[in-house]
Amino acid sequence: MSDAQTAYDRLIAHFREIGLLQSTQMLLGWDEQTMMPPAGVEHRSRQLSQLARLAHQMRTDPRVPEWLAACEDSDAVADPLSPAAVNVREIRRTYDRSTRVPERLVGEIASTVSLAAHEWSAAKDTSDFGRFEPWLRRMVELKQEEARCLGWADGGEMWDALAESYEPGCHAKQVEGLFAPLEQRLRPLLDAIRGSERTPSGTINERRLSLPAQRPFVREVVQRMGVDFTRGRLDEAPHPFCAAAHRDDVRMTTRFSETHLVEEALGSSMHEAGHGLYDQGLPADHVGEPMGDAVSFAIHESQARLWENHVGRSRAFWAWCFPVAEGYFGEGLAGLGPDDAFEAANRVEPGPIRVGADEATYNLHILVRFELERALLEGDLSVADLPDAWRQKYREKLGVEVTDDRTGCLQDIHWSEGAFGYFPSYTMGNLYAAAFFEAAEQSIPDLSDAIARGDFEPLRSWLRERIHSQGKRYRAETLAERITGEPLGPEPFVRHLEGKLRPLYGV
Ligand code: ZN
Repeated sequence: MSDAQTAYDRLIAHFREIGLLQSTQMLLGWDEQTMMPPAGVEHRSRQLSQLARLAHQMRTDPRVPEWLAACEDSDAVADPLSPAAVNVREIRRTYDRSTRVPERLVGEIASTVSLAAHEWSAAKDTSDFGRFEPWLRRMVELKQEEARCLGWADGGEMWDALAESYEPGCHAKQVEGLFAPLEQRLRPLLDAIRGSERTPSGTINERRLSLPAQRPFVREVVQRMGVDFTRGRLDEAPHPFCAAAHRDDVRMTTRFSETHLVEEALGSSMHEAGHGLYDQGLPADHVGEPMGDAVSFAIHESQARLWENHVGRSRAFWAWCFPVAEGYFGEGLAGLGPDDAFEAANRVEPGPIRVGADEATYNLHILVRFELERALLEGDLSVADLPDAWRQKYREKLGVEVTDDRTGCLQDIHWSEGAFGYFPSYTMGNLYAAAFFEAAEQSIPDLSDAIARGDFEPLRSWLRERIHSQGKRYRAETLAERITGEPLGPEPFVRHLEGKLRPLYGV
């Protein structure tokens, strides 16, 4: 066996062990948000900090650069798309980034995250920004320090260093370049909708539907989408998410409300199941290796959005789903039909809350956060001034008056967890989802008929073959260009909205 092969085998064995630590972190994080009693938070923060530190030590092990160097010089990585080359490329990237951040800082961020997220949740409940303020200030300082350790390209900014953790190669100027034309294209559509005399029906949102009937209903939909419940779970969490410890252990969460079935329980479940399908479809031969991992957060998000919005908010979907819902809710849906569900799913109502925002205004919520987090990191906005700046932006971008911080700058968990640079992944996910769905419609001729029959197999297989099973082989933009033939832009998304909303609103 060649030296390079031995080095490669050791490198992979080492990173699979790191993967075990990371998947344990993930499971503890899942437990923290679903099952853990509140008093467990201090101990959990120490557990997570310890695991983060061990993983960091292993990532920066002095043998890693030796193994990498031996691999990088060998023929094994000659084909840049081979699994070995992908693994070496990604491990190099991880190693170079990890060695720039001192272990002390890694541990400090990890332990602060659990406590800050806990304080955020309490502050949000009572709409008390003052309670969260010192934690957010601390988190901004820690992330600024991390960004300075990581560094960014000439002409870039601090935000870029942090966004790199979620979207390799993504920087603020590129995001600006997507947002500017998107906002420009959305404005006339939103103005037309605002001036419309037609209001789509929202009656189904007001129907009170029993939770014991909602639970098996969403489970049936998610199962029909193709989620394998022998390799995953669907539990409840106030802030739904999906955490995969392994492709065979995928933890999806959702939430239930007696009203608003379409956007609450069903929307959240289909969204998280879209994430879950991606995780369950990752290549089995490369578990624990970069090659067996998702491309990026935006691509992950695109899978969730595609199922939630392009499938779940379509007329075809409701042709199948409404009769299924009637089977569970009976009289609860009396006098309504598939059109009522379709209309309720597509009402455009600018409001203060990002989660549950309609497709047309959702990205404006992200734009607000992107602009504010950049300013916080650059020091152009102080944490104390955040609530006012938030209100100002909502007035300007959405025409919405924010009345308290609970529905204002305290609504999202992300910053308490140190996830600065993450929000644009949602919008990029929306744009990727629209581009992927258009491509799927072109290559699956009767896709809409299949969806109307509740047959999701053609779409799931299409996604599995082109995206899920590819692991991290391609960078996000390359993967998308291979599938859609175009670089990422706002047009497919705008076409999707225009095509659906203009007829619905008669504008
Ligand atoms: Zn998501």
